[in-house]
Amino acid sequence: MSVEQTHEERETLAVEVNLPGHAPRTETALFERTRKALIARDGGCWICGATDAKDAPLQSHHYPVERSLATAWDWPRFMRDCKAGAWGLHAQAFDWDHFDAANPYTFVDDQTVNGMLLCEQHHIGKDAGIHAMPHPLWVWQRYAPNGYKLSDVEIIHHQS
Ligand SMILES: [Zn+2]
Ligand SMILES: [Zn+2]
Repeated sequence: MSVEQTHEERETLAVEVNLPGHAPRTETALFERTRKALIARDGGCWICGATDAKDAPLQSHHYPVERSLATAWDWPRFMRDCKAGAWGLHAQAFDWDHFDAANPYTFVDDQTVNGMLLCEQHHIGKDAGIHAMPHPLWVWQRYAPNGYKLSDVEIIHHQS
């Protein structure tokens, strides 16, 4: 099969990194409150546009700061980037003057500044989730044409 025709690619990416020690994962009141605010503001999954449903609640992906990495994060460097707009308008507008790197979760768990709405499939699903595939392929799901058969488990369908 030539590369000029649609062809299957099998990714064999294996990743081994040293994660910093961190407190066990908890869902804070701030996270849950701002997840709802994010749904009200952004509406649907960033990839496919699926909206929040009782049997398929939208999930909020910590972005750009993954929660488990917050204890090994160069906060002054990140703050500088945010203030310069590198991470978008919402992270730029965050109240950085009252931020204390000793408790980074005031930013990390605030999903209106550090969250991305995703359906379960595009969050953690095999061959589809941001936690489960290389980033270029993940982004492609937002821009591949409607009806494109991306994999055995996914035909592109943009809801908005
Ligand atoms: Zn989705
Ligand atoms: Zn996530």
